[in-house]
Amino acid sequence: MFAEIFGIVIAGSAAWLAAYHICNMPRVFTKTASNPGPHVVIVGATHGDEQAGFHACKRVIRLLSDRRIRLWRGPVTIISAANPCGMLLDTRNMPMTRLDVNRSYGTGAMINQKLESHVDKADWVLDLHEGWGFRAMNPFTVGSAIYYGETRASMDMAMALKNKVNKMIQHDSMHFVSVRDRRKDIPIGSLQAYANAQSKNYILVETTGLYNAQPLAVRVEQMVVMILHCLDLLGMLAH
Ligand SMILES: [Zn+2]
Repeated sequence: MFAEIFGIVIAGSAAWLAAYHICNMPRVFTKTASNPGPHVVIVGATHGDEQAGFHACKRVIRLLSDRRIRLWRGPVTIISAANPCGMLLDTRNMPMTRLDVNRSYGTGAMINQKLESHVDKADWVLDLHEGWGFRAMNPFTVGSAIYYGETRASMDMAMALKNKVNKMIQHDSMHFVSVRDRRKDIPIGSLQAYANAQSKNYILVETTGLYNAQPLAVRVEQMVVMILHCLDLLGMLAH
């Protein structure tokens, strides 16, 4: 009897450890062109219930893998699921530990250390999230906005991405706006704070997605258009 219970406990612990290990492994894809160029790191599904980023990353990975778009220069690292178990279970935080991955940069959390190892090497960071509301209509919401880092290049990129994506959005009230957050408004432990502290070129995209305000396909398309336009403006795509 004791041996049986002991066996179940051991098996349960092993399963927990295996799941813990898997949940702390972000899904990472890297492609490197033969010509040197800027290193772009794209991060999706940090919050597991903001799923457009995951699907947009997968779409861009497929386009690169099928060579329907070709990388001309530089490496691109695409982290489709920064919080893989949250993404699978549709939860904002990591399911087992309740860790908010986007409040845990610089804290030594295992998953953040792995993400930081990529971000530290980046010249550009694209951080894909989903919010609610339309910022153009309501300044107290975060949806449909592009937040940029503290470099001049980040601001210029945000403007360019905004102009590009807004061409596909009919109503002005649903247009993306570009915003530079005040330092005191940027959450501690977020990728935005972490990237700013290193003077990275940084773009945070927030679609209007929470509570299914817009179909997933619309949000994914918006993100894909912005990702590809960013790579194109950096001269990374072959034509
Ligand atoms: Zn988020």
